[in-house]
Amino acid sequence: MTEQSEFALIFRDFEKEYPIIEHGEGIYLYDKDGKRYIDATSGSAAVTNIGHGVEEISQAIETQSRKFAYCPSHCFVNRPAMELAELLATIAPEGLNKIWLVSDGSEATEAAVKLARQYQVLKGYTSKSIIISRWQSYHGATLGALSWSGITTRRSIYHPLLKNTPHIAPAYCYRCYFNKTYPECGILCASALEKTIRQFGPENVAAFIAEPVVGAALGAAPPPEEYFQIIREICDKNDVMFISDEVMTGFGRTGEMFGINNWNVKPDIMACAKGISGGYVPLGAIIADEKIFELMKKKRSNIITGHTYSAHHIIAAVSVAVIQYILNKDLVAKSRKNGSYMLNQMKKFLEHPLVGDVRGKGLFAGIEFVEDKKTKRSFAPNKRIANWIETEALKRGLITYPGTGSVDGAMGDHILIAPPLIIKQSEIDEIISILGESIGEVERQIF
Ligand code: PLP
Repeated sequence: MTEQSEFALIFRDFEKEYPIIEHGEGIYLYDKDGKRYIDATSGSAAVTNIGHGVEEISQAIETQSRKFAYCPSHCFVNRPAMELAELLATIAPEGLNKIWLVSDGSEATEAAVKLARQYQVLKGYTSKSIIISRWQSYHGATLGALSWSGITTRRSIYHPLLKNTPHIAPAYCYRCYFNKTYPECGILCASALEKTIRQFGPENVAAFIAEPVVGAALGAAPPPEEYFQIIREICDKNDVMFISDEVMTGFGRTGEMFGINNWNVKPDIMACAKGISGGYVPLGAIIADEKIFELMKKKRSNIITGHTYSAHHIIAAVSVAVIQYILNKDLVAKSRKNGSYMLNQMKKFLEHPLVGDVRGKGLFAGIEFVEDKKTKRSFAPNKRIANWIETEALKRGLITYPGTGSVDGAMGDHILIAPPLIIKQSEIDEIISILGESIGEVERQIF
């Protein structure tokens, strides 16, 4: 094992070994010793949607980088950024056609929230500033985004620095916060939003932000069917903006171009990143309803955010090539078809004593591990079950994405499986086979 202290670079986890990656092709990554890994999470995670080594992307980088280094955005615009915005406007839900480009998912959710607040102020609702979100969610690592994230392990040490924003119950049927069962539950997790808005006063609430299918914090947990329609109605009734965090679910991941499309609901703003540039370059974007921009134009109120690398021309050119690749290869439909195949195969894991739940949408799936299937009792966090599964799978050449805290922020183990959208069914079979072996191995050692 490589001793991490030998290196200046900080590695993410002292307990883990980190092979050095040399190259990638399609759904595979290869380390310096030539060992092959299936990138079954598309990076960390849902990033490399079109796979590794795509020639069109290298060409886009080369062509655009030859033109100039950087376009000063305080006095110029550049063609690739304009082209990308047009493309995003054509694939987004109707009416969401105003785009602001940033560099990652955290910046995107922050920019979305700032825009929501600006819009409320422009409408004359100057006291509307509260952002409501959910427990067991993740919206980014910066202090604003972490404030509305509901992921205890990533938040707790920073707690004194975070903004104290309200979090409601997640839409998480496997461990319903209200101890109810769908559909008799009355979708209490959705009406919780209305109660919280009333408790704080609708005149004080600016926006609600949610992932259509919760990724890192819950391992691909989709909501009950009616959930987002109810959320939309509550937001409309209370003049609360609805922000869909599409950082993981966007760009075909869940079998629709954007995760929220699965429920025919139109958000006011979408925050995007990851799959938008297929992992080749860092990029994020907000895609906003034109009504927001119309009011900003009328009031001559500019967007009040921006970073040095917003709308970088090389990055934008890459994203155009990535999105065209997704469209040309029909990867959204493939995600839907192969996703349903993958989920059916994964459901077979429910026969394992360790597996409590298997869930997902499109090529975005998760497995939750339990010590006792009947009571759904989870393992003590120090057993690091999700990490253990990850280690066993990695030994066998399979990359999975472990997560914890699904029960209450501390307890609960899951892994995410989200392979590149180019994956074939025979490759899915290989993932299933290695995953089955890895779960079996951990089971042999603990039961
Ligand atoms: N939103 C969601 C749903 C995410 O999954 C993530 C990252 O995993 C983020 C936001 C933050 O994105 P980034 O890590 O690019 O800042």
